[in-house]
Amino acid sequence: MRKYLPAVVFLLVFETLAITLWLTKDNIFYLFNFSYIGIALALGIFLFARGSANARRITQLLVGLYMLLFLGLISGENMQIEGFWYYLFIGVFEAATIHYAVAKIFGPLLFGRGWCGYACWTAMVLDFLPYKMPQQPRKKLGWIRYITFAASLVFVAALFLGHVGGIERIMFWAFIVGNVLYYAVGIALAFAFKDNRAFCKYICPVTVFLKPMSYFSLLRIKCDHDKCISCGKCRKVCPMNVDMLDDSRSRENGTECILCMECVRNCPKHAL
Ligand code: SF4
Ligand code: SF4
Ligand code: SF4
Repeated sequence: MRKYLPAVVFLLVFETLAITLWLTKDNIFYLFNFSYIGIALALGIFLFARGSANARRITQLLVGLYMLLFLGLISGENMQIEGFWYYLFIGVFEAATIHYAVAKIFGPLLFGRGWCGYACWTAMVLDFLPYKMPQQPRKKLGWIRYITFAASLVFVAALFLGHVGGIERIMFWAFIVGNVLYYAVGIALAFAFKDNRAFCKYICPVTVFLKPMSYFSLLRIKCDHDKCISCGKCRKVCPMNVDMLDDSRSRENGTECILCMECVRNCPKHAL
């Protein structure tokens, strides 16, 4: 039963968050929202403990589709980075800002880039492409993320400074256009670089928050060097080119780990 403990812990953490936000903000949406996400995550962790190879994908689809379709398209909440700036500028601490605070800014101190492995609706689609393991060396293009990050901020700031009318409607359409663009660029890059996660590595503006915070993550992949036989299988299956054999926080691509557990699943010696 011990192997199911992490699933129970995750469920309890999210249930606590759900009840706290429901009572403090007097809005039952938070109870529904965080309970749903907690159940989806706990299910994935439970299935992983049972040895399912698709555990992560199931959680990613459950959470990603819910956020994209229900929160984004049906409820009209811009959950992309532009939405975060928008709600920040109008001073509203609602779904998009709470989502960023929990999943992308403070949460990574606890669970690193778990968002990228288990919830992101962009990666949910990219992970179905044929290049699960990068088939080319990593490129030095990470600087592009700072440009897309700045562009998202400038776009929203310009709407406010220009006193543009109907900003709420613009933000809804920005969500749709933004997602179409992300998918188009993400899919094109995956095929060009033969790497499903190329968009995550070079373009995604959210990594400007995620990478520094996940450096301090409590949850990390570590290697038991007494068990390791240096077969190198773990490095071969990592979609993010992480050097998981180095336990230091400054290990190569350490802030890229999405906790997908492929290295753990494939280690013949259970050393990770
Ligand atoms: S890096 Fe960006 S696109 Fe990739 S999974 Fe994370 S949030 Fe999603
Ligand atoms: S797969 Fe396991 S045994 Fe092989 S190098 Fe990685 S940690 Fe060591
Ligand atoms: S394979 Fe291991 S090191 Fe690489 S991203 Fe997944 S969990 Fe992290």
